[in-house]
Amino acid sequence: LLTVRGLQKSFGTTRVLESIDLTVNRGTVLALIGPSGSGKTTILRCLNGLDLADGGTIDVAGYATLTFDPAPGKKQLTTLRDRSAMVFQHYNLFPHKTVLENVIEGPVIVQKRNRAEVTAEALALLDRVGLTEKKDSYPFELSGGQQQRVGIVRALALRPQLLLFDEPTSALDPELVGDVLRLIKELATEGWTMVIVTHELEFAREVASEIAFVDGGTIVEHGAPKDLLRNPREERTRQFLHRLL
Ligand code: ATP
Repeated sequence: LLTVRGLQKSFGTTRVLESIDLTVNRGTVLALIGPSGSGKTTILRCLNGLDLADGGTIDVAGYATLTFDPAPGKKQLTTLRDRSAMVFQHYNLFPHKTVLENVIEGPVIVQKRNRAEVTAEALALLDRVGLTEKKDSYPFELSGGQQQRVGIVRALALRPQLLLFDEPTSALDPELVGDVLRLIKELATEGWTMVIVTHELEFAREVASEIAFVDGGTIVEHGAPKDLLRNPREERTRQFLHRLL
């Protein structure tokens, strides 16, 4: 479903991604782990075109491979963005829009889908996550856990091929983490293809079918959770896990 080759990204003179190669098959749940500042978030942002890579290629869902040197055209980028949807650490809901408006905005305005149809779908999704009663509330009236569930519903409403999660629970109070993790686990069993940046190794072990360890802008090691977490091949992975466990 997703093939990334030689992806590079610098901010000014700082090289943040060295050369990322990554293949994610349909139905895979890939957890990206690694030290702070290693480039995990930047990988996600490049995957859905929020950041523009400087070099390399990305191919999502068989779409003609996107190259970054020279930079892709607007139409190509729009297609890339259309294939994936991002769930942010700090939810990033529109503060002046209601829950329902937040969910239907992308499908109606960007994807130009029928408003009535999108609204019906959005209401069903909100019902699924127990937020029907909050549909006319504003984000500030919701708990962090509720806001993040809206963030996930908003991503699902875009009908993406690929769901990208950037530390979806790290801004939440501990007692609110469970609901969000449960929802992500449900999506995994439904067969969604997901890339999840997380600091929660226990969650990665439980929900991910693959884990990639990112350090210094490269993927140091990529494998099944039980192998990578229990028996890492690389010394750098071992040291990272040793510090956490
Ligand atoms: P964390 O786990 O702390 O979120 P991360 O692995 O997700 O870290 P990134 O957020 O991808 O790391 O950042 C990688 C590096 O790129 C960091 O050194 C960061 O300071 C730098 N960086 C990220 N975004 C920008 C930006 N917009 N401008 C300049 N530097 C940036």
